[in-house]
Order: sequence, then structure tokens, then C-alpha cells
Amino acid sequence: MRRRKVIVITGGAGFLGSHLCERFIQDDYKVVCIDNLITGSMDNIKGLLKNKHFDFIKHDVSKEIKVPGAVHYILHFASLASPVDYLKYPIPTLKVGSLGAHNTLGLAKAKKARYLIASTSEVYGDPQEHPQKEDYWGHVNPVGPRGCYDESKRFQEAITMAYHRYHNIDTRIVRIFNTYGPRMRVNDGRVVPNFIHQALDNRPLTVYGKGKQTRSFCYVDDQIEGIVQLLHSKYTGPVNIGNPDEFTILDFAKLVIKTIGETKSKVIYEDLPVDDPLQRQPDIALAWKKLKWKPKVSIEEGLGYTIEWFKQKYV
Ligand code: UDP
Repeated sequence: MRRRKVIVITGGAGFLGSHLCERFIQDDYKVVCIDNLITGSMDNIKGLLKNKHFDFIKHDVSKEIKVPGAVHYILHFASLASPVDYLKYPIPTLKVGSLGAHNTLGLAKAKKARYLIASTSEVYGDPQEHPQKEDYWGHVNPVGPRGCYDESKRFQEAITMAYHRYHNIDTRIVRIFNTYGPRMRVNDGRVVPNFIHQALDNRPLTVYGKGKQTRSFCYVDDQIEGIVQLLHSKYTGPVNIGNPDEFTILDFAKLVIKTIGETKSKVIYEDLPVDDPLQRQPDIALAWKKLKWKPKVSIEEGLGYTIEWFKQKYV
């Protein structure tokens, strides 16, 4: 009988982490999910807990990590990804990005495992180049309120490359652009769960600023496929994974209202958060060149699946 490869997924009870756990179980791996449940939830992995190839360890990866036996792959996805969460927990955010990356890289070195970190479009800050290519160095305010997230992810990229160059660790870096889908927390504060929940409740949709800032939204299944392909590729430089379909936030609010259909919700305007990036759109030419990956799910389709999931879970 073929021995299963072992993959450690930090943040495995979170939004993307739990989809990755599921995917690697389907792909016949043994999955070790590590999460301190600060924003992750057991509900996200309840379907996996009885599987004998799935282990859950409740642990904060900014403290030393011990995993017995062989480990072939490590995905470091533990993080507080929503602005609302990282503004509430700035120090855990910095620690999981820095100490958590150091500990997981140390584990990769000890186990001779391939290592992939979840980086972010936020490394580009409030970008002055549009769309954003991987060779753009970014425009980040290190001392602003978002600095805790942005700089922890930039540090994470730097330490990953240092381990790659100095210790020959086999590394990958995915820069994840705004991703949405089932298992986002209803109260995580990001725009997709906020708007869907507000519209399903017939409450006004809270558009920050004038809603002229843009984001480009990727459905979770496309994102997971891109990450899996990157992990199995030979490319060590950072790769953008996202959907270039770009919307102003005001247009996106109108699209959510139109897609839900039955809602009485209108739009209200609230203050724009400090340092909120004005525009964001991934250039995904590199993902196509290196991985032959591009997103397949349209925003209408993806929003439809996500709304259905929110309806079943929260209404
Ligand atoms: N936003 C909004 N209303 C909300 C939540 C977010 O207008 O209720 C805006 C936010 O200011 C930002 C965009 O939507 O411009 C995306 O915000 P999100 O928190 O989802 O993620 P970000 O891309 O900023 O990390």
C-alpha cells in the first residue's frame, strides 16, 4: 500500500485553510491541521474530524511547533486576514506572520519539507502601479493601522526567501487577492460577508467612503486550485493568484443587491478606513505562464453559491 504524504496546514480551521484541508484529504494526503481558533472554527472542519487521515492540533504557531513523524509539505495559512480582525488583534497578527513563519520554516528545515506561505495582495499596499505585477515592490505605510498585517506578510516573504537561499528550503509564495466563498465568517467584517448578510437581513449595505475604491474578487475554488498548482510547480518566486475582474465597491454593492433580488436594502455611506487601498487588481500573466492557471468561476456564479451558503447557514 502506498504511504500517504503528510501535509501540515496552519490556520487549517480558517476559511482558506479548511478548504485546503478538504482538498488534500480528497487528494489522498494525511493532513495535520493546526489552528489556535482565534478566528478559525471547528465548524469549518467538522466534516473531517472522523477521517483517520486527518489530525487536528489546537496550537498557536507563534510558539514552538512539534509534529511527530515525517512531514512532506507545510502550508502556513494561519493569519488574521480581515482588516477588522487584524485591527483588533495587531500583535497576534504580527506574531503569526513573523514568529509563526520562523517556526514553520524551522519545521520545514527539520523535516526537509516543501514550504508554501500564504502572502497577500496587501504587500503592494495602496498600489501606485495598476494592475499589480509580482515585480512591483509596493507602497505600504509601515506605521499605519494596516501595517501590522502588511509588514508581517512582507517579513514572511523575506524570511521565506532567506531560508530558501541560506538553508536551501524548497519554498513557494502565493500572493492571494480578495477571495470569497462559503465558510467566510458572517461577522469577519470583510466586504463580501458584510454585504451579503446585510442584504439578506434587508439592512442597508455599508459602503465605505464613496465606494470608488476597487477590488477584484476570486471565488474560493479557483483560489484553492491555484494554490495547489503552485505547490506542485517548480517556481519559487511569488505568484499572484486572484481574479482580475475588477469592481468599484459601489458597483459591487449594487451587484450583491441585484443577485439577491428579493432584498429591500439600499446603500449607505460610512467613513473610509485609514490607508484603505484605492485600487487593486492582480496581473495573473505569471500564474498562466508558470502554472497554466486562470480563474474559471464568474462573479455571478460565485456570488450565487456564496449567497446560497449564507442563506442556509445564517437565515
Ligand atoms: N468595505 C466596504 N463596506 C464594508 C466592508 C468593506 O465598503 O462593509 C470596503 C473596504 O473599505 C475596502 C473594500 O470594501 O475598500 C474591501 O474590504 P475588505 O475588508 O473586504 O478587504 P481589503 O481588500 O480591504 O483587505
